[in-house]
Order: sequence, then structure tokens, then C-alpha cells
Amino acid sequence: MVFENLSTKLQDTLKRLRGKGKLTEKDVDVALREVRLALLEADVNFKVVKDFVKTVKERCLGAEVLESLTPGQQVIKIVNDELTKLMGESVAKLNQSSAPPTVIMMVGLQGSGKTTSAAKLSNLLKKKQHSPLLVAADIYRPAAIKQLQVLGEQLEVPVYQMGQQDPVQTAKAALEQAKRNRNDYVIIDTAGRLHIDEELMAELTRIEKAVNPDEILLVVDAMTGQDAVNVAQSFKEKLGLSGVVLTKLDGDTRGGAALSVRAVTGCPVKFAGLGEKTDAFEPFYPERMASRILG
Ligand code: GDP
Repeated sequence: MVFENLSTKLQDTLKRLRGKGKLTEKDVDVALREVRLALLEADVNFKVVKDFVKTVKERCLGAEVLESLTPGQQVIKIVNDELTKLMGESVAKLNQSSAPPTVIMMVGLQGSGKTTSAAKLSNLLKKKQHSPLLVAADIYRPAAIKQLQVLGEQLEVPVYQMGQQDPVQTAKAALEQAKRNRNDYVIIDTAGRLHIDEELMAELTRIEKAVNPDEILLVVDAMTGQDAVNVAQSFKEKLGLSGVVLTKLDGDTRGGAALSVRAVTGCPVKFAGLGEKTDAFEPFYPERMASRILG
């Protein structure tokens, strides 16, 4: 399960503080050194770890802890608060267009789970009585169009495609169709590559300009750890990212991406992918994630 190692380490460290009647600065330092190591081992971004430990330490040396009758408990609460804050505090909602349809563009590297997440998101919206339209704008992998069509059929969500034609034209035409058919959400599955390249970014920028999306969701594979965060940064430089979808949180990942991606990109994690099935997808709850880590 995600965070398993991190969780065990943090719990062990904090357990040692729990029973203490009084805490010294040294106790706090020793504990935070272990917290720092545990976070780095979980592949959390170095700078994020540094800032996190600094904030926690400042709060731990404040009156709320030192004057408390249960200082160990207070430290645990602070770590919990700050972990939650790191991941975003509250659940981040989808942006809405004031004039439907709301247009959502899914971007990310190949294999990150983009196509699957597009379908999963359409499923979530459909269950809430919305009428989404999926758009196959990943024209370089014919299998991607087919994959989206199969998922669409399975979920009874319409899929718009124009084969290998220009993805910008496909996206524009899809938008027109959505207006005609009163689809209130348009979810565009775009092309990914194994690595970021200029051509891919230029194409995504052209689609962005053409359809002016309300949301650009970056799909990030949580298994790829630090790399995922670097990828996120590159996308952020070129596109108006508005949120992140973290996939494969069901896997045996160290969790570093989940803990760093928001701080690094400034974009909230909006959804979590928790399995291969189309219903293994939910809004990302920072508080629940923090509680899961601290047990
Ligand atoms: P794309 O190239 O970015 O469109 O990636 P796909 O949507 O084709 O997904 C790549 C692989 O990851 C597929 O085998 C998916 O079933 C799998 N996948 C996607 N999301 C998740 C997830 O949340 N959990 C797990 N375990 N697998 C996922």
C-alpha cells in the first residue's frame, strides 16, 4: 500500500514522543531528523522536505507545545496538520464554466494513466447526472483512440474522434458537437510521449489556445516518484495547469509524488486513481491521506 514505509517510520518516531511529560529542543531535533530522513526515503522532493521540517520545528518550539501537558501529542498534531497542508488542506473541486460545456484537457506522459483517467472522470460525472463527452485527441497511437472508444462504450459515454486528423481540429469540432448535443462536460484525452519534447508541448499549447479549457489536469503516475515531480514542473512552465490527477496510488509506491507535487507546481491534486477499474477513482482528500500516513 502507498506510504507504508513512510507511515511505519513516522509512527515509530512520533510514538517515542507521545508519552513524554516535557519536551526539550533536543527531543524535537532528534525526532525531526528522523522525520526528515523518512520523508527523503519516501522520495519527497528535497526542498519540500526542508521547508516542511522547518515549519514543523518552528511550531514545535512554540508555546502550544512547550506549555502543553501532552507535548508529544501536540507534535503529532502539528505533523498531521502540516502533512495535510502540504497536500492541499481541503478537497479541490473541478473548475466550472459559466457557459457550459466545461472543458477539461487531460495531459501527461504516455503510460501515466491519462486515457484511463479521462474515462474514469467521465464515469464520475455521469454518476452525478452530468452528460460528458470524451474526445480522442491522442492521434499518434491508433490504439489510444480505440482504447477510449472501448471505455466509452463500457461506460455509455459518447466518444468523439476524427481518426488521425489534426488534434486541434478534433478538439474544436468536439466542442461544437458538445454544444449541439448539450453535453455539459468535454474531456479531451491528448497525446503523451515517453519524455517531454518540444513538439508535444507545442501541440498541447495549440489545443489549449483553440479550446480555452476550464481545467488542464496533469496526470501523474505516483509510482514514478521524483521524476513525476520534475515532469510536472515542465508541464507547468508551458501550460496553464489547474490541477493534478495522481494515478496508481493503489500500488506499492513510496508516496513522494503525492507529498511533493502540490508544493512544487502550486496546483492542487484534484483526483486520485486507485486501481485499473473505471470506478477506482475519487476526489483527492488531503486530510485522509495525512491520517493514513500517521495511522
Ligand atoms: P496513457 O498512456 O497515459 O493514456 O495511460 P493509460 O490510461 O493507457 O494507462 C496506462 C496503464 O496504467 C494501463 O494499464 C492502466 O490500466 C493503468 N492505470 C491507470 N490508472 C491506474 C491506477 O490508478 N491504478 C493502477 N493500478 N493502474 C492504473
